[in-house]
Amino acid sequence: MRIIRHLTSDGPAYASLQQDGNAFALTGDLYSQNGLQLVSASPIPLGRRLAPIQPVNIIGIGLNYRGHAREMNRPLPEFPMIFVKTTNSTQDPSAPIVLPGSRNASHEVDYEGELAVVIGRAAKNVSRAQALDYVLGYTVANDVSARDWQFKWGNGQFCQGKGFDTFCPLGPVLVTRDEIPDPGQLALRTWVNGELRQDSTTSDLIFDVPELIAFLSASKTLLPGTVILTGTPSGVGAGFQPPRYLQPGDTVAIEIERIGTLENTVTRESF
Ligand code: ZN
Repeated sequence: MRIIRHLTSDGPAYASLQQDGNAFALTGDLYSQNGLQLVSASPIPLGRRLAPIQPVNIIGIGLNYRGHAREMNRPLPEFPMIFVKTTNSTQDPSAPIVLPGSRNASHEVDYEGELAVVIGRAAKNVSRAQALDYVLGYTVANDVSARDWQFKWGNGQFCQGKGFDTFCPLGPVLVTRDEIPDPGQLALRTWVNGELRQDSTTSDLIFDVPELIAFLSASKTLLPGTVILTGTPSGVGAGFQPPRYLQPGDTVAIEIERIGTLENTVTRESF
């Protein structure tokens, strides 16, 4: 199923996106055993699109594509490099990425196109072989990062640079795992203002999706609604000479095969 969330007069609601573009209303609990069920097979009008889920945790993986480790001049990691992205950073598809312009201003805000894994049921000490059973589905994420706060002013920690409001656009569709049996073979492309910047596949991942779930669940219960950002391929703005950071008026589009395209414009905070 291709699940979307949108704003109705009664508040946020789920819907099932059909191949012809129509959407059918869904009811139920995304994380229960029965999940979401169709209300009726008649098309409904769609309101403003929302991030398909509200994450309870956002766990990021750094340096997880061989090509990206090369462009950042870093050795391949022995263990996954874990950071936390605070949930306030969640942003809706088509809503703006806001460059921070106040006391914590940044002039080095970068994009990172990523496959996002959504956990469907609590996972603890899960084996690699069983890991995908705990996945609800997949969506597209932009792990927006203020490089100055990430590397220069964050005292070695990524939380500040990764956790600004609007720095985690998600969506537009959550594709349930039955439709993507192998998350390790998906093409991923990122464009800024129509210019192709990232062009890779999830087969370049150093630690693949089952390995990440096995590794993370050995130390942390992955609660339903946890989002794992699996890392970004080469082609981020920081990898260019000179770097090409996001500017107000830019548009970032990230496409992942079998999921869809997440598109957000860039504005600067006014204060
Ligand atoms: Zn990232």
